[in-house]
Amino acid sequence: MPLAVNLRHLEAHNISLAGSLPVRELDIDPRDDVIQVRHPLEHDLEVQKVEDGLLVQGHLHLVLECQCVRCLKPFQHRLELANWACHLPLEGEDRVAVVNDCVDLTPYVREDILLEFPRHPLCDPGCRGLPSTSIGKLKNTSGTGKTEVGSSAWAELNKLKL
Ligand SMILES: [Zn+2]
Repeated sequence: MPLAVNLRHLEAHNISLAGSLPVRELDIDPRDDVIQVRHPLEHDLEVQKVEDGLLVQGHLHLVLECQCVRCLKPFQHRLELANWACHLPLEGEDRVAVVNDCVDLTPYVREDILLEFPRHPLCDPGCRGLPSTSIGKLKNTSGTGKTEVGSSAWAELNKLKL
């Protein structure tokens, strides 16, 4: 649990967590074929104890490997959460899990990072994609071509039978 806070240490002073979280630790599932997580999550967080819980604030940065949904070109998308903040209650129904005096921040970071994933990754907001005219032509020719071949083949067979 590299992205964890020890509550005992937090009693004395705020805790700074800075570094990079390996892909396997972040363990994020993009649920999308066009997005891949291959780079560690860079983070620079400050954790402080507040009345009923923890307040985590700081900076998250993650580079995603994406494929443009319009032109299929691979590109990198930079996720930047410059002023990320998260309140984790230590009391009440929604209190966070504490294991050996430690709270793992990874699930909360993962959740908020996922929300920032692009829904339809584009290499450029103005990407015009693959020329739509050529796709239309291809579809039309292959479609009509097949039926023509089919019908002529049947015609030939009919001739043979007669
Ligand atoms: Zn594109």
